[in-house]
Amino acid sequence: MTENFEPTSLRDLMCGSVDSTMVGERLSVCGWVAKRREHGEHLAFLDLRDHSGIVQAVVDGSVDVRSEYVLRVTGTVSLRPEGTLNDRLATGDVELTDCQVEILSTAEPVPFQIDERTEVDEQVRLKYRYLDVRRDRMQRNLRLRARVNSTLRRAMERQGFCEVETPLLWAPTPEGAREFVVPSRLHPGEFYVLPQSPQIAKQLLMVGGFDRYFQIARCLRDEDLRADRQFEFTQLDVEASFVGQEDIFAFVSEAVLDAAEVATDQRPGPIATMTWAHALDRFGTDKPDLRFDMELHDLSTHFAATAVKAFAAATVKALRVRGGGEFTRSRLDALTDQAKALGAKGLAWFRVTPDGLDSPLARFLSAEETSVVRSVDDAQVGDLVLIVADEYALACKVLGALRLTIGAPPVSEGPHRYVWITEFPLFEGVDDDGNLVSAHHPFTMPHLDDLDLIDTDPLRVRSQSYDLVLNGWELGSGSVRIHRADIQSRIFTALGISDEEAQSRFGFLLGAFKYGAPPHAGFAFGIDRLVAILAGEDNIREVIAFPKTQSGTDLMTSAPKDITERQRRDLRLKFVPKV
Ligand code: ASP
Repeated sequence: MTENFEPTSLRDLMCGSVDSTMVGERLSVCGWVAKRREHGEHLAFLDLRDHSGIVQAVVDGSVDVRSEYVLRVTGTVSLRPEGTLNDRLATGDVELTDCQVEILSTAEPVPFQIDERTEVDEQVRLKYRYLDVRRDRMQRNLRLRARVNSTLRRAMERQGFCEVETPLLWAPTPEGAREFVVPSRLHPGEFYVLPQSPQIAKQLLMVGGFDRYFQIARCLRDEDLRADRQFEFTQLDVEASFVGQEDIFAFVSEAVLDAAEVATDQRPGPIATMTWAHALDRFGTDKPDLRFDMELHDLSTHFAATAVKAFAAATVKALRVRGGGEFTRSRLDALTDQAKALGAKGLAWFRVTPDGLDSPLARFLSAEETSVVRSVDDAQVGDLVLIVADEYALACKVLGALRLTIGAPPVSEGPHRYVWITEFPLFEGVDDDGNLVSAHHPFTMPHLDDLDLIDTDPLRVRSQSYDLVLNGWELGSGSVRIHRADIQSRIFTALGISDEEAQSRFGFLLGAFKYGAPPHAGFAFGIDRLVAILAGEDNIREVIAFPKTQSGTDLMTSAPKDITERQRRDLRLKFVPKV
């Protein structure tokens, strides 16, 4: 709908705003020809469209206009004659009569109809994105996105946050993704890096006394594109001093819930929290989709002394699939293939039938094992029980993935279930050189109870980091930061980052921390992802005006493309043929 519309020198109101209270008034509207119908030689009906809607103009005599011509129509608002009302149109009881038509711009035949009903191939939509955004879906989505942005901004300002812009031409940041680099003309052979996030800049602002910072920030990561990932994306980036995790949850929840309310007219309840360990144990993932139950169950103790080789493993995890007894053999084979592709040795399945368990493995189970499997999660006749036996994390991960394959609705389908995931491990594993790898980034504060484990059992160290998850998508993450030099240096040592390397990579941050660093914490979440789900879309491309394709190209501009010889010379770039 039209908000805050002021007449301009060309138009008095929007097409969708013409209504029966204006009958008799002579008004001008501007827009695109959505449709044109001739009635004999001397009468034409034009549907004129702008983003607010469509109004019908009745033109006496013939006018030479075609679809998508841009017109200014001045006419008298009239009630439509009986029998010609159109209840599919908001303006369907009125029309403009006695019209004067000015052609502001002509249009060639468009490659697809500018309406909702016409299905258009996405490649074509992206090539002619300027026409695609003329259609209702993109108009709705981009306008929703604008409302979400302004709501987030207002929520942060209301909570005392100050928006500060940070540079796009920057130095490497420690998020761990591949970076886009920009060659410097003035310093040949040297490069800027486009920021993966304003992480270091915002921590520097904490040292600088901006104790509540936010930014609607563009971030860039050179990673493979997916439904929820583009090279560039927009974050609500937040950092605050003299706060703990709970404060950050409160600030961010307020902004997210405000945005959800603006988009859906309903304010979701307070956002629950769940530890990472619980999420993994119950849902097999750190991004649990809580819209449906199907929790994982641990049968390890019951199988500790099993005689069945397939179940002789550290962990035996099971999943009950309601009504899954009907799955065909080929569906079960596909699930088994998926389990194997994720690293499992296999997938055991059991149909619960009135006569007991139906499965190639059933006859090998002991009586106790049979009864445990039979009653997993209160399984009933007609259900299916899936079991993965393996090392703990793998068993959880595999069953968690099968749970999604079997049960997850499209991401944008309601209800919207938000959850904070807390206490992630500080390190996610060990790299090829035997060094620990940060799960978040190297400035994340360890859980203070676990400090001693850094040297003895580092993979068990919990961190003070957290994610916000919505319907199984990670909306964003954050952490309490290390502001003490002694802890930071222990972490760098654990990560195999030498003093020299730390100095060369983050020297400016470590230097700043010597001049009075307040305790601080922050968070960032992806606005593209939030808006997509709120808009009912399953791909973030649908809420981005000019996105890239899956292979990273812009079909409209043809970017990326070659630069001129002159530019190459200026930048002293020479291309080495691919080997
Ligand atoms: N910079 C982090 C990220 O982009 C978020 C944060 O820790 O504030 O994931």
